[in-house]
Amino acid sequence: MRHVLSGHGASRGSALGRARVRHPHALEVAEERIAPAAVDGELARLHAAIDVVRGEMRGMRERLHGALAHEVGEFLDLYALLLDDPELLQGLDELIRTGRYGADYALRLQRDRLAGVFEAMDDAYFRSRIEDIDHVIGRVHAALHRHAADLQGVAGEILVTDAIAPSELAQLQAQGVLAIVTAGGSALSHSAILARSLHLPLLIGAAHALQQINDGDVLLVDGGTGLLVVEPSADDLLAHRGRKRDEKRETRQLHRLRREPSRTLDGFDIRLLANAESRDDVAEAHALGAAGVGLYRTEVLFLQRAELPSEDEQFLAYRDLVLGMTGRSVTIRTLDVGADKADRSGLALANEPNPALGLRGVRLSLSRRDVFETQLRAILRASNYGPMRILVPMVTNREELVAVKRLVAQVSRQLKKEGHAIASDIPLGAMIEVPAAAIALPTLIDTVDFISVGTNDLVQYVLAADRGNDALGDLHTPMHPAMLRLLHDIIATARRHDTPVAVCGEMAGDATFVPVLLALGLEEFSLHPGTLLEVRRAIRAQDLGALRAAMPALLRARNRAGIARWLQAHTR
Ligand code: PEP
Ligand code: MG
Repeated sequence: MRHVLSGHGASRGSALGRARVRHPHALEVAEERIAPAAVDGELARLHAAIDVVRGEMRGMRERLHGALAHEVGEFLDLYALLLDDPELLQGLDELIRTGRYGADYALRLQRDRLAGVFEAMDDAYFRSRIEDIDHVIGRVHAALHRHAADLQGVAGEILVTDAIAPSELAQLQAQGVLAIVTAGGSALSHSAILARSLHLPLLIGAAHALQQINDGDVLLVDGGTGLLVVEPSADDLLAHRGRKRDEKRETRQLHRLRREPSRTLDGFDIRLLANAESRDDVAEAHALGAAGVGLYRTEVLFLQRAELPSEDEQFLAYRDLVLGMTGRSVTIRTLDVGADKADRSGLALANEPNPALGLRGVRLSLSRRDVFETQLRAILRASNYGPMRILVPMVTNREELVAVKRLVAQVSRQLKKEGHAIASDIPLGAMIEVPAAAIALPTLIDTVDFISVGTNDLVQYVLAADRGNDALGDLHTPMHPAMLRLLHDIIATARRHDTPVAVCGEMAGDATFVPVLLALGLEEFSLHPGTLLEVRRAIRAQDLGALRAAMPALLRARNRAGIARWLQAHTR
């Protein structure tokens, strides 16, 4: 029967397809004992499910392609190893044979047993392996309750799940999933950012999706508006076809802007740089005429794997990035793991009580000199292949920037001594995303060549609103007078010091905010290539002089509604 669920659009695009529901891996199964005569049957059922999961993993491995194939492949290899682990398998057999437990309950007991062993370990890396055990055991559990045929990928289906990890997205897309619906999540999570980068429709915060959607239900998903229709009516389907036609028409119209300048009506050129994380992003950014790469999140090389990438591996990735932009500048951000970007290599501490306020970004890099030096060596070596800038994340104070500069100089000297050629001019910039750095910008701006405002984190820290917590609703938004005043001051300080300033948070890629950012004086945006043309279109419709004249009125707005009214009056 038709019903409508609502969530939030996190990655645009509409999709029509059957649901594949993935229930959370937490094994909330009641204790269940079986009769002695049922033991062999239960063992056979369990091993058939394990075989299905093995086959599924093998299939995924073979189908992998694209930019993240290598990293995702390493994950799958790890899961395959766990599946063959004698400790896991013998324990399960024993629980069924001698404990007379049903396979589901045996899985739960064995999961808890292994998790206990890992939890007791000192090493953060081993503690983080619990996630992998949960993943593997969860898959076996799911397989116990499905026919093998159901597990042959999700091609042409819409995945409905409690949450989605960034590492799963590329894999799911390679398998041909049409769209993803999650019960929780946030539009600013790394998964959402990656989904937009992959052009994969994602609808988040559909709170009751897991209870109200069954495998095989027909779903109509709109990753833009956040609307989800279960068992759509003929009218819904008609409207969907209309939307698809509109999407195509809009895409065609936008594509006409590919070679047009990002110039306002009164003739001011605005620089549009790209946030690019994969080879596809770089190619797209290049084709759309991005002025360069304004943010390359190097975490992508670290997050999908258990071991740290070597200097050479990093060097090749950075070099290819620089070469891909053929002479346009590339901004490489040093490692920003921690908080919402939990890594699997054990770099970020696993037991921090407040990870968002913990050892992340440059704090982590400065405390792990070995890792930081390796990364800087790779970056500096790549600088020889084209114009490049280095961007430092999570800067809180001047001392951190001084320490980074010293290390860059030291690593450069060492590399030269070893005979490596490196560029003579590599601008160093700071991400402005910690309120302290934003407020005290005049005290540190002379240490850098440029700044880039990370509004995703700046909003989170200024408004004390977790960027990944959907329960906070609309609280995480730049539409707050405090944020507008702060952005105004940051941009004004940068202009006074003749220091280039960009915004590289998701705010810059949202065309609705273009009038606000232009009014506040911003001349450089860094955004995902997927929304570059829309932002260009919005810029081309604006008169910069008129917007700047309206800036005082914007700063006088006392609440969200006041900012919205200003926006409505100035959106063209
Ligand atoms: C930001 O915080 O706005 C930003 C661009 O960095 P990230 O989203 O990677 O934290
Ligand atoms: Mg950030």
